[in-house]
Amino acid sequence: MNQVRTALILFGAPGSGKGTQAQRLTTCLHAPHIATGDILRQHIQLGDQLGREVESVLKAGLLVTDDLVNKLVEERLDREDAQGAIILDGYPRTAPQAGAMLRMFEARKIAPVVVHLKVDYNRIIKRLSGRRVCPVCGTLYSTVSSGGSHPPKIEGICDLDGARLITRPDDNPAVIRRRLEEYDMQTKPLVEYFQSRGVPYHELDGGDGAPEVISERICALVRPELGKPGLVEPVAAKSGVKPVSAAAR
Ligand code: ADP
Repeated sequence: MNQVRTALILFGAPGSGKGTQAQRLTTCLHAPHIATGDILRQHIQLGDQLGREVESVLKAGLLVTDDLVNKLVEERLDREDAQGAIILDGYPRTAPQAGAMLRMFEARKIAPVVVHLKVDYNRIIKRLSGRRVCPVCGTLYSTVSSGGSHPPKIEGICDLDGARLITRPDDNPAVIRRRLEEYDMQTKPLVEYFQSRGVPYHELDGGDGAPEVISERICALVRPELGKPGLVEPVAAKSGVKPVSAAAR
């Protein structure tokens, strides 16, 4: 079957719900979740050379180099489970990354669509400070009910596998502020870039409603664009390849 390739780019500030939404949307769009932050954290967890190189950058809330991230994404795009629709989370984050991405997409005939989740920064700071993550399955939780991730049924324990939840080292107030500054300086200006390049672009209020309500809205918004013949073939399910999001973050 002739697969047409499309990429949903989930765009927004740290804590706007990109990761939570991407996890939920893998089912609705039959597409793997490709999160550059997750890929980098996997290398850190493995303790390999790349992981050792980037660990201090992530801890400080700064961005890793464009060349490195571009290479990781390019390799990921060529994996078997990424040949239909894909969901990108946390990429692109700078103008050089956005340019590289469009070149990669052009070469592979991948059509992008951007969904921008807009959330008030005060809400974001509250969300990120209360965010917990399962180190085994990557599910995101919140200690507070904030219209973002949900609280676990038993405090501190993952609903799905019983693992003890952790706080990401960069989810502390000083580093959260730094990440928001990086977003303002380097990432937010990409909205104009996408629009100038004619990339389909949608904005959604990411602070208004429970995660499931927001994912239904995104799904309804982008399915017509991703849902042309062949676009939502469940490639990941057929190939048996696990989405990246299923690995530990
Ligand atoms: P958040 O969106 O909540 O900041 P992510 O998991 O997307 O979380 O990213 C965590 C960190 O990983 C970033 O602060 C940055 O250091 C690094 N990172 C992730 N994606 C990129 C990227 N596209 N370019 C540069 N650095 C990145």
